[in-house]
Amino acid sequence: MSTSELGRNNITEVAIIGGGVIGLSIARALTHRGVRDVAIIERHECGREASWAAGGILAPQIEADARDDFFRLACASRDLYPQFAADLQAESGIDVELDTTGTMYVAFSEDEEAELRHRLEWQRTQGLRVEWLTGDEARAVEPCLSTNVRFALRFPDDYQVDNRKLVEALLIANQRQGVRLLTNCGVRKIQITDGAVTGMQTELGFLSAKQIVVAAGAWSSSIQAEEALFPRLDIEPVRGQMLCFNAPGFAGHVIYSARGYIIPRRDGRLLAGSTSEHVGFDKRVTEAGVERITSMAIEIAPALQDTSIIDSWAGFRPRAKDDLPVLGFVEDVTGLFYATGHYRNGILLAPITGELIAATIVNQTTPPIPSAFHPARFRGSEPSCRVNANA
Ligand SMILES: Cc1cc2nc3c(=O)[nH]c(=O)nc-3n(C[C@H](O)[C@H](O)[C@H](O)COP(=O)(O)OP(=O)(O)OC[C@H]3O[C@@H](n4cnc5c(N)ncnc54)[C@H](O)[C@@H]3O)c2cc1C
Repeated sequence: MSTSELGRNNITEVAIIGGGVIGLSIARALTHRGVRDVAIIERHECGREASWAAGGILAPQIEADARDDFFRLACASRDLYPQFAADLQAESGIDVELDTTGTMYVAFSEDEEAELRHRLEWQRTQGLRVEWLTGDEARAVEPCLSTNVRFALRFPDDYQVDNRKLVEALLIANQRQGVRLLTNCGVRKIQITDGAVTGMQTELGFLSAKQIVVAAGAWSSSIQAEEALFPRLDIEPVRGQMLCFNAPGFAGHVIYSARGYIIPRRDGRLLAGSTSEHVGFDKRVTEAGVERITSMAIEIAPALQDTSIIDSWAGFRPRAKDDLPVLGFVEDVTGLFYATGHYRNGILLAPITGELIAATIVNQTTPPIPSAFHPARFRGSEPSCRVNANA
């Protein structure tokens, strides 16, 4: 459905602001629950921001040292992925290249080894699958690894997905289900009357909606409302730069070190990332960023110094003050929902976010979203100040 139809067809049941992996996953989950009138309002093209820039690592275990609410949410979402990927292939014809080889975390120093030993012990006591490899054992599995790797953990239950194929598949699946995709249509303001949403002012005119989901990633805080929203949504962009090497057959696992990661793709590309920078919405790839990522990648796999960098890009992770996603309804405004702040894990958390937000909207009851993620946790807190310095 084209944007020019907004004038004639300016009413929808559920309007989702933002066509990234989160907005697209929510729309799909709503259609699966029988909601027929869903619109995604996207200011540019769908899926071309953080969801395009990401690495697609689906790895709840690799950095986890506690079984907290976030760990449980992340594992639940990862565990949805095999079915999610298979269903999406049937719905869209696109293979999102879910890879279940696993992830590996390598240690170069005694301190790094100690940290990984602690992770190993904790995860084993929790009954999670994790394997300990000496440097030589790790190199037998991944011959590209440096001889300086002294120890590695292998997480056989962590995955990766091609996130660009994922957004394409979600887009097609939504189109086939009749979701209206209003692209090149920025949302300016949400209209609230007597404590309930009534619609939104967009660049193409007014769109009436009884339910509105804010899923605008790093831009979520910039969407205004006619009444002051409380609790205030405070999401900041954290820039991440990525490099892409031409390295067919180079590695099988996603490989992490304390300084970054490399991600082998099925088509022979090898991604390397990333940086974590508080520079506002400056999307440049910098010389310092390229240097840092290149040296991290070469430290893991020295032969990468003989391969060429064929692409680079940057994107903005949407980060809330406590690094956790912001999921659920806004208590003081009927019909308003937040699904943002997915920070470093939005690709991983897309399936569970779709399910939880769609269930909240359709059931109109409190779904099993832990309070750690609820917007109400920011009640009474002052908006944080933005840091504008190079990380
Ligand atoms: C370098 C990098 C690597 C990453 N690696 C991983 C990884 O390996 N695994 C993982 O799980 N996660 C990863 N992430 C995080 C992940 O990419 C994000 O958490 C996720 O993409 C967020 O999805 P989103 O839909 O909320 O945001 P986005 O994909 O940014 O989508 C938000 C959309 O909202 C639109 N929008 C904004 N304002 C408006 C408006 N006013 N009106 C209408 N539309 C609007 C934007 O145009 C955009 O399309 C990475 C991120 C980066 C930057």
